[in-house]
Amino acid sequence: MNISILYKLFKNSTGVSTDTRKIEKGNVFFALKGPNFNANEFAPKALEMGASLVVIDDPAYFIEDDERYFLAKDALKMLQDLANYHRKQLSIPIIGLTGSNGKTTSKELLHAVLQKKYKTAATIGNLNNHIGVPLTLLSIGEDAEMAIVEMGANKQGDIQELCEIAEPTHGFITNIGKAHLEGMGGPEGVLKTKTELFQHLREHKGQVFINSQDPILSNLAKRFEHPILYPAKGDFCEVNFIEANPFVKFSVDGGEEVFLSSLIGAYNFGNIATALTIGKFFEVPMEEAIEAVISYKPSNMRSQLIEKRSNLIILDAYNANPSSMEVAIRTFGNMTGKKHKMIILGDMFELGDHAESEHAKLGEIVSEYDIDKVCFTGKLIVSALSKAPKALYFPDPFSFRNWLQDSQLEDYLILIKGSRGMKLEGLVDFI
Ligand code: ATP
Ligand code: MG
Repeated sequence: MNISILYKLFKNSTGVSTDTRKIEKGNVFFALKGPNFNANEFAPKALEMGASLVVIDDPAYFIEDDERYFLAKDALKMLQDLANYHRKQLSIPIIGLTGSNGKTTSKELLHAVLQKKYKTAATIGNLNNHIGVPLTLLSIGEDAEMAIVEMGANKQGDIQELCEIAEPTHGFITNIGKAHLEGMGGPEGVLKTKTELFQHLREHKGQVFINSQDPILSNLAKRFEHPILYPAKGDFCEVNFIEANPFVKFSVDGGEEVFLSSLIGAYNFGNIATALTIGKFFEVPMEEAIEAVISYKPSNMRSQLIEKRSNLIILDAYNANPSSMEVAIRTFGNMTGKKHKMIILGDMFELGDHAESEHAKLGEIVSEYDIDKVCFTGKLIVSALSKAPKALYFPDPFSFRNWLQDSQLEDYLILIKGSRGMKLEGLVDFI
């Protein structure tokens, strides 16, 4: 069976699934292999659950006289090829985006803005890798007028691969910071990986949107004939930062009117400005784009605000890496509103050889600000103590919880941030 036949079957299906637990009647099931499983085994189960077709790649599970079986050389590659085939049938703008931090937030803001004028498809949640991007593409319906595709990377070459599948026509990079240093070969590797999107757009005469206030990104603008710049005065779209205490306030075109978002932290200003700029480029009326931005509420644990008695907690426990930690600490350092301030930082993972120095740097950054209580928790973050010797250190969550419970904090502004695996959200109950 070739790809065009598979495509016809896909078009007659109710969509694609890679998870037998979430299969819907009439789905095409792709049996993918992971480090701990071989989904070829689940093919009969998928059919039982209502799949109309199963794409497998292990001949041992192939049933020749059952038309519902499709034997591929590599089921993952088949999924990616099918996604690209589908993408080629769509003649709509596809906006690709990547970056070290803020991808999902800016994708959601932009989605809200573009929805004001167009039927816009977008990555669901965080499905941004070599499986998520094909699934995103295959979920784009025929009536979509535009699509936004989030692309994540763990190593060099990842973004290029995703671009070959998604073939974006437009794109932006949220920022180039320090995330996944381990797999990408240090900061240089991160730059190379993220710019694979720009490289792709340059080769295919695509349109880039570049934040001119970001020194690394603005440097890349020189490589393009017609980059769309923002948010400074004189750029294609001017958006002005007013403050972030804690919510971002902004104005546009130097105007008097100040808009209040529900996003915490100065770093979210860039995400807002990106969404407004691309909205303007695609001729979404500015008032409607602003309306979309200010009504957007971030979902769980991405800079969420929680009130506990007289305390106000900024819970940012969704993830952490050196660049998002730095912006979060600096934003918090400048915040006011409560009598006292406390910062709780946990380990950052996936830093490889950079772990010790990057955690030490956190100690250095925290020490620049006047914060009443600085608490570190985790194994790696112990290195931060070398630069912040007065900080409290809790190697395990249990001792920390007890201490929090005993402290009975009142009138505190509190920032909590650490890698996902640290599960720092569990501390909130003890404050
Ligand atoms: P992932 O790699 O998990 O897909 P992401 O890039 O999609 O992450 P978000 O989920 O939008 O990022 O945000 C995660 C966290 O990154 C936020 O809670 C915030 O702390 C931080 N962050 C968001 N935007 C920025 C930004 N522009 N610059 C630096 N840090 C940011
Ligand atoms: Mg994301």
